[in-house]
Amino acid sequence: MIIDEVTMPDYERGLRGSRTVIIPFGSLEEHGAHLPLCTDTLQVVEVCRRVADRTGAHLAPALPYGVVRSTRNHPGTVGVTTATLRAIAIDVVRDFHRHGMRSFVLISGHAGKTHVLTLVDAGEQLLDELPDIRISVISEYNEIQAAARELVETGDDSHAGEIETSRVLFMRPELVKGTSPAEWPEFPDARLVRDKRRHWRGGVWGDPAKASAEKGRKLTEIAVERVTELIRELEDYRETAGGDELP
Ligand SMILES: [Zn+2]
Repeated sequence: MIIDEVTMPDYERGLRGSRTVIIPFGSLEEHGAHLPLCTDTLQVVEVCRRVADRTGAHLAPALPYGVVRSTRNHPGTVGVTTATLRAIAIDVVRDFHRHGMRSFVLISGHAGKTHVLTLVDAGEQLLDELPDIRISVISEYNEIQAAARELVETGDDSHAGEIETSRVLFMRPELVKGTSPAEWPEFPDARLVRDKRRHWRGGVWGDPAKASAEKGRKLTEIAVERVTELIRELEDYRETAGGDELP
């Protein structure tokens, strides 16, 4: 069930079929001069809708804001702090737990390291707090990265490059405004920089010109396969009270 579209009785009935909820996390973030600010949210929601269809897991509304560091000076990027993301992830899981959900899939369309680690941190606290839950934290971009390498032509392609442009071309072609120049950011190794745009002018990491809707279709299918697999693994997992897996 698509949770925000059903009624209270339908929600209750839905729990008899599955107690797994998928909670997508997106971002409002610049994606070059050609992709919409909602790119990460768009990708993760599309994948989750298909996965929910296949697995019978329930789909929660996506959070359209994430923790964004490297593009925070680029116009259009609006983020939240790690404290906010951590708190909202914990609050939402607690309430779904109160209303009967037991397996939780926190899945992010935004692959920022700090952002994903914040969800992991929230998940660890929830494991301590709620003894009868199972939880997965997935970065869908990281899950498809290895397979994507076989499919795309651009080396080291990540943000608003060949991969993401292909995926948006497949999902919502009308939102793609041409293309942007190929670019790879040049951040210093350890030093944090205040003026992030100086090191990453166009906000693209990779080469969007190599994108196609057909590549986007394949990448989306790969993501759906992989996330489906991870959810089945989560649902089959059994723990003892001490947390060791039973044979
Ligand atoms: Zn993105």
